[in-house]
Amino acid sequence: MQMSADGKQMLLRAGAELGLELEPHLTRFALLFDLLTTANQNLNLTAIRDESGIVYKHFIDSLSCLRYSGFTSGLSVIDVGTGAGFPGLPLAVVRSDIRFDLLDATQKKIGFVTKAIQNLALPNAQALWGRAEDLGRQSVKRETYGAALTRAVAALAVTAELTLPLVQVGGFVLVQKGAEVMGEVAEAQGAVRKLGGVLEEVIHLKLPGTGDTRHLIILRKVEHTPPQYPRKPGVPAKNPLS
Ligand code: SAM
Repeated sequence: MQMSADGKQMLLRAGAELGLELEPHLTRFALLFDLLTTANQNLNLTAIRDESGIVYKHFIDSLSCLRYSGFTSGLSVIDVGTGAGFPGLPLAVVRSDIRFDLLDATQKKIGFVTKAIQNLALPNAQALWGRAEDLGRQSVKRETYGAALTRAVAALAVTAELTLPLVQVGGFVLVQKGAEVMGEVAEAQGAVRKLGGVLEEVIHLKLPGTGDTRHLIILRKVEHTPPQYPRKPGVPAKNPLS
């Protein structure tokens, strides 16, 4: 499905509210919209199917990560549980100066992300099929990223175990959350500390276009993650750290 002229205007206006000039990236966003809506007819990649939903809840919500000031040029980032490529793909489109690995455990989703990266011609992005628990134990990936991002994957204590082992000491984890976060943040403090992190900041924002409340939870990696973490695939979700 082609993105309409109205859809393009929505994207440009909402991008401007985030302080982003998206005009130079419009062709790629329109292509991503077309790829996603076409693939979604057969693959059930995302429940968000309408144009304004894709523009605001996928594209703009992903780009809202850039409200955090830590995205410095040359950063190496992993998007854990990227699904159909969110937030990683929109970020890779607008930040060609940052390298993105897009990880997901579901093969059909990574198949889509691989195709999208090829079609969008994004040299700064790579799709990875696998589980975060496995990647976090591989010496070639463990503690190698400057940042990890994640949206809609698990509760914060679980997310912390999937992401913090992948991040270098000094790096950060950005977890995108909806309206209610403070209870989850309080519950996850013990897990975050065990994994070598601290809670640095919770950024409150209103999503342009919808006005929905969003939060960016920023964890800072301050110490090496102990070797017993992450635990085996599935264990973090079944038995979250406390
Ligand atoms: N981040 C995307 C978004 O917000 O649209 C996808 C969210 S989807 C609800 C959660 C995704 O996390 C699924 O695609 C699932 O396969 C992936 N996932 C869950 N646990 C994972 C793990 N341990 N390692 C890698 N991917 C995982």
